[in-house]
Formats: sequence, C-alpha cells, structure tokens
Amino acid sequence: MQFSPISNICDMSSTRTLHWFRNDLRLDDNPALSEALRGDELLPVVILDDRFWGTDRWGHVKTGPHRTRFLLESVADLKKAIEELGGSLVIRQGLPEKILPNLMKEWSCLTLTAQAEHTPEEMDIETAVASAVSGVGGSCQWVEGHTLFHPDDLPMDIGDIPDIFTQFRKKVEKHSEVRECIPAPVSLSCPNGLKSDELPSLNSILDRSGQTMPTADSRSVLPFKGGASEARARLKHYFWDTKKLAVYKKTRNGLVGPDYSSKFSPWLAHGCISPRRIASEVYRFEDRIEANDSTYWLVFELIWRDYFRFIAMKFGSRIFHGKALKPESPNRGTQKHPFEAWKDGRTKDAFVNANMRELARTGFMSNRGRQNVASYLVHDLGIDWRLGASWFEHCLLDYDPASNAGNWIYVAGVGNDPRPNRKFDTQRQATMYDGDGKYQTLWSSDALELDIR
Ligand code: FAD
Repeated sequence: MQFSPISNICDMSSTRTLHWFRNDLRLDDNPALSEALRGDELLPVVILDDRFWGTDRWGHVKTGPHRTRFLLESVADLKKAIEELGGSLVIRQGLPEKILPNLMKEWSCLTLTAQAEHTPEEMDIETAVASAVSGVGGSCQWVEGHTLFHPDDLPMDIGDIPDIFTQFRKKVEKHSEVRECIPAPVSLSCPNGLKSDELPSLNSILDRSGQTMPTADSRSVLPFKGGASEARARLKHYFWDTKKLAVYKKTRNGLVGPDYSSKFSPWLAHGCISPRRIASEVYRFEDRIEANDSTYWLVFELIWRDYFRFIAMKFGSRIFHGKALKPESPNRGTQKHPFEAWKDGRTKDAFVNANMRELARTGFMSNRGRQNVASYLVHDLGIDWRLGASWFEHCLLDYDPASNAGNWIYVAGVGNDPRPNRKFDTQRQATMYDGDGKYQTLWSSDALELDIR
C-alpha cells in the first residue's frame, strides 16, 4: 500500500501522539503512555492483532478462549478508564502495521509510542510497524515498561547478564534501584470528534479461530477478570484486606484456593498492573504493617520475572530453540499420543493429570504444578519442551513469551541452570504438596470436553 507522508496532509497538530496499547493495558505507571502525554493530544489505540489467533507450528491456536476473554475484559476496563478521564479509545482488529499508519494519517499524528517488547515475534511486529509508520512520515518510540528494573539501570550490559539467577539477583539488589511509579493521568485530551469503538464480542473472535468458550469452572482458584481495576482490587485483597502477603513465603507452593500465592500473573502479563506498582505497595506494606521474609520474597519472584525477560534480550531467538542454551543436550521426541494424553490429563500420573485439567478448564496452574507437569513431559515422556510450551501458550491466562520459554528451558535442562538435571519426582512432589490428596480429588473427575483447540 502506498501512503502519502503525514506532513503533506496536515501540519497543524504536530503534538498529537498515537499511543498503541500493547501489553500495557493500564493508565497507572505506564512509561510509554507518559511519553505520549508529553504531546498536546493523545490518540489511544488498541489492536486485536489477527496473529494472536493464528495457529502455531504444533497446531495450537496461540490464544485460547480463557486468555481471549481476559484480554477483552482488560480492554473494556481500559476503555472505561479512558472515557472517565474525558478520552476515547480506538479499537481495531487486524494487523498493526496496516492499521497504525492509516490512523496516524487520518488523525495527523507524527509520533507513535508503545511499550517495547523483547522476543522475536513481537520485535518483528515492531519492525513492520516502524517501517510502515516511517512510510507515512511518522516515527515510533518504543519505551521500556515491562520490568521492575529499567534495563538502563542494570549494573551490567544485557550481554553480560549472568547465566545464574542468584548472581544476577545479588547484583541488582545491591546496585540497582527500582524507579518511582508514574501516577496515572488525571485527564486526557483526545482529538475532537474521536469516539470510542465498540469491543468485538468474545464469540465473534473465538468463532474466527474455530474456538468456543467453555463454561466457567467453579473450581478455578479465582474468577480472574481482566482489567486494571480488577488488578488493583486483587492487590488490595491480598496485601491490605487479608494481609496474606505477610505469609506468602510459607504458602506460595500451595495448590488449592485463591490466596496461597498472589495470582498477579495474568494482570502482569497483560500490563493491567506494573511490577513497580506491586513492589511499591510491598514497600508500603513493609513500612506500615511488617517487613519479613514473605514481603521480601514477593519482590524476589518479580526479579525472576525480570531475569527471564533480560535473558530473552540477551539470547534472542535461541531460547525458543529445542536445545536452547545447551547445544550438547539430547534430542527429544514429538510423539502425538503421549503428548495428547498429557494435554488431556490422561497420563499414568494422577498429580500431573489433575494439574493439566485445571489448566485446560481455567487457564491457570500453580507454579508447583507447572514445574511438575513440565518435568513429566520432558523427562518422563521424553517429549520436546516446545510442544508443552505451545500448549501453555494456548491455555495460560498469564502467558508471557519470556517467562514461559525461560521456565520451560530451565525445567527441561536446556536453560539457565547450574544443575545438570531438573527432573521432578512427581509422586514424591504429590506426597509433599498434596499429602491429603485434596488437590487431586478436586480435579479427579472432569468431563474435559477438549473442544477448545
Ligand atoms: P506468585 O508466586 O504470587 O509470584 C508473584 C509474581 O512473580 C508472579 O505473578 C509472576 O509475575 C512472578 N513470578 C513468580 N514465579 C515466577 C517464575 N518462575 N518465572 C517468572 N515469573 C515468576 N509465569 C508467567 O507469568 N507467564 C508464563 O507464561 C509462565 N510460564 C511458566 C511455565 C513453566 C513451565 C513454569 C514452571 C512457570 C511458568 N511461569 C510463568 C512462572 C510461574 O509459574 C507463574 O508466574 C506463577 O505461578 C503465577 O502465579 P502467581 O501470580 O500467584 O505467582
């Protein structure tokens, strides 16, 4: 498609900026949005990228019904928040590199801001958008906003990120500071005549990728509704109303119920809340209520999240290869039958099965469960970790490319792990973490109509 440059069409509003909301579906502590707000007027845009519902090389639709629902709820909440501040939200479906330059032309924006991503597929989209935007005479600003520590504040270059987490953590804890949160804007000035678009319905999006929404399962650890206001409510509940933060380290390996861990991950993955906001609330809790090993540990886990992101930046596409960071490791298989049994929760291992059912039915699984099912797939069934990661991508509410691949390669023994073998004894784990069998009983029976692929 040929575009005429923006400067030829309109030169009267050079300070109108298009902000493309990606995985930063919030107004609070949003560095890319705050760059956009330096201009006089804001054109806020969300794009439901067709690629999200494409099929990957293993045959799974990338975004399953649970995350599709969560995403739409998050966008609806963002739209409401923008409208409450006097603005409007443009919502489009299609390809960002086609839609964004057209919008910039239509609304005479010279600059586009967006949160920077760091994994190959997402960066390819950035390259395509940057090229299309420059084709209409505009420019793009990719702003860091995903991590707790800003990449520029690390005490080492990205290329020198240690291959062992503990070394990284000790260095950032000693030498780096978490930047202050940026408050949400109190009003928004959008172009005259801009009206919010309606969100497409969940069914219309699922239909297009041949998916249906399973009925909500009352056994889910939480109802998990998307949106920044839900993220704030969850934080209020976990930190301030119940003070569960104060015992997090003791409960975090749990399997049943809403409060054994924070459950922040789906909101973090969609950017409904920033890790800095969570950390700043932890520090406030430490000042007002108590500081202990649990309050420390929640931030410790956020540093794991950062670590996997920085490892993705360091190694690029390598973390998505079968042998990832350990080229000398053995080849693994892609046998369909054991893999399908694993997905459906039909293996010989009741603990693995329970976890896989929870994942398929709710889009969530505990960290303990994820480690066990991942180990079982790779080390007991001998299957390539990428198939498991692909199924996780389809199912998880909190799917994040760097955290998902980083954790999978770690458990598969081809990532950042000083230990040569990460095989979990799943029977022993079931005894340790589900000694009374409560979790396995909860997820033992399941109609599991797996029509969600
Ligand atoms: P909490 O225990 O309350 O921790 C607080 C936050 O710290 C989490 O919300 C998360 O953002 C971060 N965090 C905790 N543990 C990890 C970890 N191991 N790696 C990275 N961040 C962590 N997490 C994702 O967010 N997206 C993924 O796609 C993902 N895939 C995973 C795949 C495998 C095989 C494994 C073993 C783990 C994966 N995790 C992933 C990490 C972890 O299981 C989830 O972040 C955690 O279970 C979410 O629950 P929570 O919010 O209650 O965590």
